[in-house]
Amino acid sequence: MAGLRTGTVVRKEIVAETLIRFRLAPESGHPFPAYEAGQAIALSRDDCKLTRKAGVGPDGKPIREPEYDPWGRQTVGPLTHYYSIASAPSDTAQHGWLEFLVALEHGVHGLSGRLSELLFGEEGDDGACEVGYQDRIGGRFTLSARAGDAASVLMVGTGTGVAPFVSMVRELRARDDGGDGRRYTLVHTARTEAELACRDELFEIEAAGRFDFQYLPTVSRRAGTAGMDSRIGLGRACNVVRYVYGLPTAEEEKQAQARSEVTRVAADAAMERLVHPQLPAHVNVAELAARLAPTETALLACGNPASLADIESTAGRRQVRFERDTW
Ligand SMILES: Cc1cc2nc3c(=O)[nH]c(=O)nc-3n(C[C@H](O)[C@H](O)[C@H](O)COP(=O)(O)OP(=O)(O)OC[C@H]3O[C@@H](n4cnc5c(N)ncnc54)[C@H](O)[C@@H]3O)c2cc1C
Repeated sequence: MAGLRTGTVVRKEIVAETLIRFRLAPESGHPFPAYEAGQAIALSRDDCKLTRKAGVGPDGKPIREPEYDPWGRQTVGPLTHYYSIASAPSDTAQHGWLEFLVALEHGVHGLSGRLSELLFGEEGDDGACEVGYQDRIGGRFTLSARAGDAASVLMVGTGTGVAPFVSMVRELRARDDGGDGRRYTLVHTARTEAELACRDELFEIEAAGRFDFQYLPTVSRRAGTAGMDSRIGLGRACNVVRYVYGLPTAEEEKQAQARSEVTRVAADAAMERLVHPQLPAHVNVAELAARLAPTETALLACGNPASLADIESTAGRRQVRFERDTW
């Protein structure tokens, strides 16, 4: 069984209000195990503020509330969650650390995530805290396990779901043989431009042309997009994928299919919020569709479950091989 070790955060960067990127150095004398790009590791802290179920909300989701001890203090205790590794195996072999992208979870009923809150730390701290980890790296969301013999790989990440793909892209860049002959396309969607983690590095990797790589970042909120970098497009990941494969947006389809008054009202409201998919200014949709021809493409997706369900349905309709990471 994998042992529990204690690592140290050696660098922490606040990427956006609810997103951090940090590097974790291993326990002294115990380098991290070897891994493949796309894999994950379990991180833990012993001092998480614990919660308990306090009922079920009108939405059917459990309501959580802080758990208190008999003296009225919030109970703290250990919690472990998996996190995808964003660093490349070659980075870890050279420098020793693992890199992560972590979103600050805001529970449905307003409680901050128990572990992500501690990983974020206090405002203004340098992040140099200790984090426990299982001395085992696993998971089968790797190119060797999921991409088969596809000539083209479409990677779709929403939010921090981009992490395994950042690892894969970094590892492909590190190869000195021009990649593995495949075409790689990364669609990364975040709510805002600031939340497009690693975008400068991904643009640089694309521009360097060391392997066949196209980077297509989009933002799903229109607010704040005036004057945005023209290399960034618009729209939710599922709608960008639909656009490339010649389908209407999920919102348009729901509106067209709405039969009852209730579904029509919900569909109309969703249409008002719709941000129509728009590719970055320099990208031609016909060329992109040819690059992602269904018979040649494996679509790997990671992130928001609702978005992934829609992307899986699009892949099924266009007979594209689909693989997802399960968070
Ligand atoms: C393979 C894998 C890779 C992942 N990679 C990443 C990554 O790279 N980046 C990233 O940000 N996240 C990643 N995640 C998600 C991550 O593991 C955590 O789920 C996330 O950070 C939230 O943890 P938290 O403790 O902050 O939130 P939690 O406090 O665990 O809250 C998360 C959910 O659990 C509910 N909850 C709260 N209290 C309880 C309770 N007592 N019992 C049961 N449920 C409760 C909350 O209502 C909320 O819906 C990954 C998950 C997996 C499985």
